[in-house]
Amino acid sequence: MPSPAPQPAAHAAPVSRATLYQLIYPARVLGMALAGVAVGSVLFEQNAGAWLWALLAATFVLWPHLAYVHARFSPDSYAAERRNLLIDSLFVGIWIPLMHFNLLASAVITIITTFDKVYTLIRLLWLHALILLAVAAAVVTLLLRPQIQLQSSVLVELCVLPLVFAYTWVNTHRGTRLMRTIVKQNRQLDALRRTDAQTGLQSRDHWMEHATLALHSLQTRAATRPSTLLLIDIDHFKSINDTFGHIVGDEVISAVGKVILDSVRSEDSAGRYGGDEFAVLVSQADVPTARAIAERIRSQIEQLRFVNAPQLRLGSSIGLAVARPEHATLLDWINAADHALYRAKHQGRNQVAEAACA
Ligand code: GH3
Ligand code: MG
Repeated sequence: MPSPAPQPAAHAAPVSRATLYQLIYPARVLGMALAGVAVGSVLFEQNAGAWLWALLAATFVLWPHLAYVHARFSPDSYAAERRNLLIDSLFVGIWIPLMHFNLLASAVITIITTFDKVYTLIRLLWLHALILLAVAAAVVTLLLRPQIQLQSSVLVELCVLPLVFAYTWVNTHRGTRLMRTIVKQNRQLDALRRTDAQTGLQSRDHWMEHATLALHSLQTRAATRPSTLLLIDIDHFKSINDTFGHIVGDEVISAVGKVILDSVRSEDSAGRYGGDEFAVLVSQADVPTARAIAERIRSQIEQLRFVNAPQLRLGSSIGLAVARPEHATLLDWINAADHALYRAKHQGRNQVAEAACA
């Protein structure tokens, strides 16, 4: 019988199997009540006897509460609720012949009770429920041999409408909530993908997207001023890990990330290139500006001090490469900065070196 089930994915936390019955309970109470109105209108048209009205009350008013109590006190409330969902469909099967197969009411409650099972995400529950519904309808038909009265009066049509409306409204509401959750989670995933959690700098992939765009605008002459890459590597970082431990090593990475973030301009892009290596795209600035930013970063890193390792002194080597026409791809540009970084290391570390002109 109609009991619009919750859609687990629409909730912030996944629906616990154990509390499924609690989520279904109010929906079942409402769905059953509205289905009872629809079935009751058919009984009214048929001048049904007292036992049918009593059965109607038992099914559509009493059953939702019995189902709740059954699941609540069952040792396995999830399995009990699964049984309840099947019993919902069993009742629909019983009521179809009792309504003399009234086409509109029978079709609507069959469709709703079946699609409800799909929403529970319990595999094949809808199929099992549909089979049970058909068997129940067949057994009652064989036992009672009811007349077939397919057509509906306006009264029945009016009494079925609230059920259709409520079911559509509830599921539309759930659908939009689910879509909002998906959009929000996609945004959060995208932010996670774009940011390096340890430093707050851009992730390598995201930084490379920025740098590729910058190179493209230089190649297409959309950008009028040169851009420069800085590759920054912490000196002897391995020995910092070895001497002070990885926790201090992590603190160093975070502190260097913060220095870089604070030293670049808002139009620049700073990213963690990997391990103890960082990359900065100095956008549309002349070489002296880029050199000043690189020197500021190097000097600030040198001045960093750590409570957990007071004697620790840091140095960094920085390779600087201006974008040139011979840099056909981002990799060419990064290679030029990497060569400059290599020179800074070999010239004694803790210094800025510029890529040689071609
Ligand atoms: P060089 O002066 O030539 O750069 O020498 P180096 O010791 O810095 O050498 P290298 O750059 O190869 O060492 C990087 C080390 O950083 C290797 C890796 O174990 C360590 N590392 C990478 N990422 C992290 C991190 O997030 N935290 C910590 N604690 N260590 C990291
Ligand atoms: Mg290093």
